[in-house]
Amino acid sequence: MITRFAPSPTGYLHLGHVLAAQRAFGFAKDAGGTCLLRIEDIDRTRCRPDYTRAIYEDLDWLGFDWPLPARVQSAHLGEYASALDTLKARGLVYPCFFTRRELADIQGDDDVYRGPGIVPDSGAVAAKMAAGEVPAWRLSIAAAKDALGAKFDALSYFEKGARVPANAAVHGDVILARKDIGTSYHLACTHDDALQGVTHVVRGRDLEDLTGLHVLLQTLMGWPVPDYHHHELLMKTAGEKLSKRGGDTSIKSMRETGMTAAQVLDMAMAGQIA
Ligand code: GLU
Repeated sequence: MITRFAPSPTGYLHLGHVLAAQRAFGFAKDAGGTCLLRIEDIDRTRCRPDYTRAIYEDLDWLGFDWPLPARVQSAHLGEYASALDTLKARGLVYPCFFTRRELADIQGDDDVYRGPGIVPDSGAVAAKMAAGEVPAWRLSIAAAKDALGAKFDALSYFEKGARVPANAAVHGDVILARKDIGTSYHLACTHDDALQGVTHVVRGRDLEDLTGLHVLLQTLMGWPVPDYHHHELLMKTAGEKLSKRGGDTSIKSMRETGMTAAQVLDMAMAGQIA
């Protein structure tokens, strides 16, 4: 069994991450498997090297152990570009130049973009492409349905031994390559789970509604569909999860104020409410 812990270095780790790490590393340990560490730092606008360094330090201090080297996604952008090329060649993605504001004008409050059927935009897109403008690339749910036929509605994955239907279209034609970074969390994450032989994806419930989309991508790309285990989240108050941006106390500062690793691990486990 191979699991992975895949934090994004957009801030210092907090107690929610400690719970997530315990779930991923513990899941592997209980089964005699291995938990990998992956740094999901494709977003150059938000990720910082000092946060990556702090992830290594915090996890090491907490006593977690992973095979070296950790995979650092920013060093593999060419691989995600190749995966995107495969999808382009098969007509499964299309270029899109709409800004958020334009999309809002087109579809009002509905923030799920359901494809170019809404507005015929192919002429304008072709002109921009010819002028060398860089588009975002969106997954075409319509093309995915064509490619998979009846299999599309039967997509599923296993969680705790039960087969769960994969609701693949719920987010519409999602962006698989942002114009500023050339890829996306969805593409890089599913690519790496396949490349790294991850058999069990252990991650928070906040990501559960993306799993159907990830199963669709795996199926389109011919990648294996791992089992999933979505764990509870550590909540500050009911309904409000901890966040790096919310300024919640970092593990780094707990460490620096003299707390022990055992105390921090206990706090993460005791704090869970769901
Ligand atoms: N990098 C993601 C995060 O920090 C987790 C991705 C995943 O586990 O699939 O929220």
